[in-house]
Amino acid sequence: MSTVLVINSGSSSIKYQLVDPGAGTAVAVGLIERIGESQSHIVHRTDGHTEERRLPIADHGEGLRRLLAMFDAVGPDLTAAGICAVGHRVVMGGRHYDGPVVVDQEVLDRITELCPLAPLHNPANLKGIQVGLALLPDVPHVAVFDTAFFRNLPAAAATYALDREVAEKYAVRRYGAHGTSHQYVSAKAAEVLGRDLADLRQIVLHLGNGASASAVAGGAAVDTSMGFTPLEGLVMGTRTGDIDPAVAFHLERNAGMSVDDIDTLFNKRSGLKGLTGENDLRLVHKMVADGDDAARLALEIYTRRLRKYIGGYAAVLGGLDALTFTAGVGENDATVRAGAVEGLEFLGIRIDPDRNTDRIKEPTVISPDGAPVAVLVVPTNEELAIAQQAASLVPAEAGAGRPAAG
Ligand code: AMP
Repeated sequence: MSTVLVINSGSSSIKYQLVDPGAGTAVAVGLIERIGESQSHIVHRTDGHTEERRLPIADHGEGLRRLLAMFDAVGPDLTAAGICAVGHRVVMGGRHYDGPVVVDQEVLDRITELCPLAPLHNPANLKGIQVGLALLPDVPHVAVFDTAFFRNLPAAAATYALDREVAEKYAVRRYGAHGTSHQYVSAKAAEVLGRDLADLRQIVLHLGNGASASAVAGGAAVDTSMGFTPLEGLVMGTRTGDIDPAVAFHLERNAGMSVDDIDTLFNKRSGLKGLTGENDLRLVHKMVADGDDAARLALEIYTRRLRKYIGGYAAVLGGLDALTFTAGVGENDATVRAGAVEGLEFLGIRIDPDRNTDRIKEPTVISPDGAPVAVLVVPTNEELAIAQQAASLVPAEAGAGRPAAG
């Protein structure tokens, strides 16, 4: 067996999985939360066994040491499990990266330079890589960027209609996000359909707490709804998605709100949360069932936005072969799926109500047999995708005699 330790390092958390990329399975899964607080929390699951610890963890370095101690104490032994790489999720790769890259000093410098473009994410991702390199110096560390799949968007999709000099000077363009998921799911959809990826015009709807749409032609992304940051596009758990930027000017001038206040309002207090008080669609549905008008309207806004993107991307693609739902909402919410495609029969998009059952655990086609557009539900697996991308770089690098990082 050969495995990859996948690390997703956030501002106060580290999610990790030891993945066997060949078998497509997770050998161990864990989470460290509330790093830097008085009581941090580690959960480590392996082989049907769950181990939990509550203790203070001062920083990411200590977090990663605790994580490795969990492997020592509970298993599996990383060497026996054949660890061949560490794969790190990095949110922003800017213009530099259109695929995974083995981390060296230049890569570290570039991720650091990109921090102003992703101030909430890249510093935390970087910390995870730095402590990882120090603690696991004998295996290659690979950065897998959320933006990579969208790095080569057509210029007309990536460029805002903004003063060119300003855009150039401040690196303002559409970078997208969730790219690892969109790439994995679009490839999987082709596999499920038994079609060649190169022949398919696809739309992928990644609907989780964050949500994004992509248009994919022949396996390459040609448009995506998240933009300069993940704020743009679809209605999300707590984010506005598309909104007139003049709302920000208005609030700054007339509501006494600072730029940081508005940033928080748009990113953390809007979307479903702002409209209903709840960011979880399960609770929004419950409110609708209880007769709550604000929740009903929120659901209408949410699905209407989806229909606008589906229609827009069908036009951009010049037709559509497959439409795929993924992530927490996309995989579990039959009502949202039905609402997203309502009235789109004229585009050839239909779903079979019996196939569109609530919980779908395996990749499933939910359109009727013979429908012009295949509609699918495909569970995403970003950790597996990161592990596979990291593993794909290992043999060549190892063969080249890469010195141990440290
Ligand atoms: P993710 O960001 O992909 O983990 O998705 C999290 C979101 O998925 C939650 O905030 C819920 O809105 C949604 N979700 C998870 N399970 C369900 C479910 N059974 N039905 C509807 N929505 C769900």
